[in-house]
Amino acid sequence: PGVLPSRAGSLAEAEETALAVPNPDSARGLLRRLTEEPHVAGTEAGYETAVFVRDKLREWGWEAEFAEYKVLLNEPDGLPSVTIVRPERVELKVTEDPYTPDKDSASPEAWPAFHGYGVSGDVTGQVVYANYGTVDDFDTLDEVGVDVAGKLVLARYGGIFRGLKVLNSQRRGAIGVLLYSDPADDGYARGDVYPRGPFRPPSAIQRGSVQFLSLGPGDPSTPDGPSVAGAERLPFHPTLGFPSGSLDLPEGFEPQGEGAGFLRGSLLNQVAGERLDRSGIDPNEDLGTLVARFDVDRWEEQTGLDRDEYFAAIPSLPISYEAAEPILRGVAGPEVPEGWQGGLPLAYHAGPGPIEVNLKVGTRYQIKTIQNVIATLKGEAEPDRWVLVGNHRDAWTYGAVDPSSGSVATMEACRAIGEAYRGGWRPRRTLVYASWDAEEYGLVGSTEWADEHAGELDEKALMVLNVDSAVSGPDLDVEGIPSLRDLLLDAAEDVVDPDSGTSMREVWEDRKRSEWAKSVRLELPGLAEAGSEPELPGYSPILGPLGSGSDYTAFVDHLGIPALNVDFGGRYGVYHSIYDDYFWMENFGDPGFTRHTAAARLYTLILMRAAGADVAPLTFTPYGEALAQYLDDLRVTVARKAIAPDGEEAAVRFEGLAELASAVLDFREQAEALDEATAALADREEVADGTLPGVNDALMRVERAFLIDEGLPDRPFFRHSVYAPGLTTGYASWPMPGIRQAIEEEDQELLNEQLPVLVDRIAAATGAMAEAERLAKGGDE
Ligand code: GLU
Ligand code: ZN
Ligand code: ZN
Repeated sequence: PGVLPSRAGSLAEAEETALAVPNPDSARGLLRRLTEEPHVAGTEAGYETAVFVRDKLREWGWEAEFAEYKVLLNEPDGLPSVTIVRPERVELKVTEDPYTPDKDSASPEAWPAFHGYGVSGDVTGQVVYANYGTVDDFDTLDEVGVDVAGKLVLARYGGIFRGLKVLNSQRRGAIGVLLYSDPADDGYARGDVYPRGPFRPPSAIQRGSVQFLSLGPGDPSTPDGPSVAGAERLPFHPTLGFPSGSLDLPEGFEPQGEGAGFLRGSLLNQVAGERLDRSGIDPNEDLGTLVARFDVDRWEEQTGLDRDEYFAAIPSLPISYEAAEPILRGVAGPEVPEGWQGGLPLAYHAGPGPIEVNLKVGTRYQIKTIQNVIATLKGEAEPDRWVLVGNHRDAWTYGAVDPSSGSVATMEACRAIGEAYRGGWRPRRTLVYASWDAEEYGLVGSTEWADEHAGELDEKALMVLNVDSAVSGPDLDVEGIPSLRDLLLDAAEDVVDPDSGTSMREVWEDRKRSEWAKSVRLELPGLAEAGSEPELPGYSPILGPLGSGSDYTAFVDHLGIPALNVDFGGRYGVYHSIYDDYFWMENFGDPGFTRHTAAARLYTLILMRAAGADVAPLTFTPYGEALAQYLDDLRVTVARKAIAPDGEEAAVRFEGLAELASAVLDFREQAEALDEATAALADREEVADGTLPGVNDALMRVERAFLIDEGLPDRPFFRHSVYAPGLTTGYASWPMPGIRQAIEEEDQELLNEQLPVLVDRIAAATGAMAEAERLAKGGDE
């Protein structure tokens, strides 16, 4: 697609060269190397993986450099402890057992139970079981009269991003949070556990970030800009991340090395005030005096932040189901509502208590250096336009699936493309490979880089292929901006799925079609009863909408750059535990490494075509279909809310719906016209030199048109009017987020305000498409 007939032959040849490169042995070797030891961001082992990746890319013909940042990260300070103190003292285990004889799984190098951007604390209280810890779950607790204030929340992982579980608990006055992995979700209730099977064994712990994401991802000490040397920083606290109340440094605390400078500098800034007027301040003032002058109210005033909405203020810790079981046994109170019973062999209750538990967590905050590896392969005709492929490299432990399977598959793709390059192929645009660091803490490496290069990215970036975990099983899963759907499907058509032997496109479309048919049957039960399958004329698959949780976020949500997120999923229960290791991959995830190889081929084709196409391979008909779908879904949500069980007035009225529907209709018409025009352009034998860059830029600008300058309500970082992570989900997408939020919050005023904003942005995108169409046809006239 998008390739002029005169060049189709040479691209096909280059693709063939490249597709022959990825192979299971090479993939296996790379995975072995990357999973040798835990490699958390900011550690020596993490640095070594950066060197390894950089040097490999160079070997394969790419220009590769580090892009380093100084970011605020925490690390465990000693072993945490979880102790039942009443009715009887029992100390629970917070480390993971070695289960495999051939390898010391419980490596002393792996960090114990840990939450990134969590805080230190020592709290004791009765326990409340809060299911998944969602807003709805806490509302349910309210309804049954279980008060969370002053209690320790025990919630299970799943459903929403873990940071929001801590935020929700904190908002309700909890004193601490234990997050455990229930066997119903990824343990023995799903199948055999490691080392016999792929699911979570009893002692496994899901580490992870508990960032709040209020102001978006990235280094929380630099909410307004990149974490480069000399960046202005919020003053941080060495054990609490950010101070609540006074700064109160721990007794005898002496910040070391660079950390001392950063702490002093950020305090000087804070004391200097908004205008950074340091004239009345002695720059050599001792730390103690600066600390004493710190004032959190002023901090909040200056930054416009609400401290407790910005960062965890209560300690939290992940625990295993082995550790959670004795706690749950001691939780009495009302029986849990439907859907709250997990997989442990006991009847779950909500509490509070009578069991009492003590949680002790120590953590240390420091400014650490992280390494993104940025590698490029220069484009020929449009060297200043970029096609990016990004994948994080840092892992909480060995990270075989997350993220090394993605590193391996994207590295194999880079090796393949390097081979084609060596054979004489030249991409039209510059390919940029990014190996991100500190994703696990909160998409830190990618967000800081995107911050630093925002202007350049706006001008140059055509698309991002994001790959996080690439392989945990056989099922191709794609989320993405709809304008990239056809690029993806065309590539998937040309790669054989190793498990079924048919094309990946066929496998994926079949699955999407049956999922769709199932949802139609659920909506229209009469059809199933009548025994008639719904007819599916002209069924067109829609990519899953992008939410967050991986490194595409800054690109899509902040900068309006289209992205795809592509992986192969399956039976994977060891996420963020030490059992996400090479043994797991070799036995369960991809024993023959054929899925890694197929993934690498798929990425290779997507990238070569995106970088090589004469006419940028963006199609907008699928975008129109997706918008129509999102609108339908919202209509249904509003209609459901209107049918309130107690027959009350509809909570929100969808005023302005007609304008939105007609904006979507206009978009669809214009999209089809544009797609025809670009297809015709790509079919022409000759295209004048000046035509293509203009058309390509106009195509690239369509996505930018969706951006709202001031961002979504209370979320300035999130500027895309169609895509954002849900406010209450963290991961899952809320398409058309402004109005979705208004509907969720049943806020008519917000709805009335957000509807015209969305209509305006859709119209702007339609205008941008009209301009692209005009340019695409221009050469004809
Ligand atoms: N992917 C990581 C996780 O799910 C980080 C997500 C984030 O902080 O946004 O834990
Ligand atoms: Zn990951
Ligand atoms: Zn992860």
